[in-house]
Amino acid sequence: MHVQRNGIAVECLQGDIARQKDMEAVVNAANAELMMGGGVAGALHRAAGPELAEAGAPMAPIQPGEAVTTEAFNLPNDYVIHCLGPVYGRDRPEEELLRACYQNALHKAEEHHIQSIAFPSISTGAFGYPVAEAAAAAMDEVTGQAPYLTSIQMIRFVLFSNEDATAYETALAQSD
Ligand code: ADP
Repeated sequence: MHVQRNGIAVECLQGDIARQKDMEAVVNAANAELMMGGGVAGALHRAAGPELAEAGAPMAPIQPGEAVTTEAFNLPNDYVIHCLGPVYGRDRPEEELLRACYQNALHKAEEHHIQSIAFPSISTGAFGYPVAEAAAAAMDEVTGQAPYLTSIQMIRFVLFSNEDATAYETALAQSD
C-alpha cells in the first residue's frame, strides 16, 4: 500500500527490515544497550556486522523514546537510526514514548538530510505493545510530522507478518 500524506510518500509492505536496499536509513527497534538482541535488532546486527554494536556502544544506554544514529556498515543503507521503544505495561506513558521514537527518528533523519527511511513495528515484538494501537499511534505521528519534513520524501513501514501489515495498512487508510 502506497499513498501520499502531506506531500510525503508513505507505504506499508511485508518484508525484512534488513533487506531494504532502496532506503537511505533503516530504523532499529533497539534495546537500551544497542546490542544485537533478537527480532529487528538481531536481523540488523547480523546483516550489518559487529561494527554496528561497536558504533553504538559509546552512546548506550539510551532511554525509551530516544533515537541515535550510526553508520549502517554491511547493510545496504547509509544509516541506522536506533530507537528504544517503550516496554508495554512498564514504560509509561506508552503512547507518548512510542510517538517520541517516531518523531525523534524523523528528526535524526532530517539532520542527516536523508530522503528515505524505513521503520519496523517498534515495540510490538518482545516489548508487547498491541499492534493495532501501535500502528495507529505510529501513523498518526508520522503523518502529523509530514508537513514539517524538508528532506524526507518517503517513509516505509516494513512489517514481518501478514497480520502486522494489515494492521498498519488499516491505520494508514484511517490517517487520511
Ligand atoms: P521490540 O523489542 O521493540 O518489541 P522486536 O524486534 O522484538 O522489537 O519486534 C518488533 C516487530 O518487528 C515485531 O512485530 C516483529 O515480529 C518484527 N520483526 C522481527 N524481525 C523483523 C525483521 N527482520 N524485519 C521486520 N520486522 C521484524
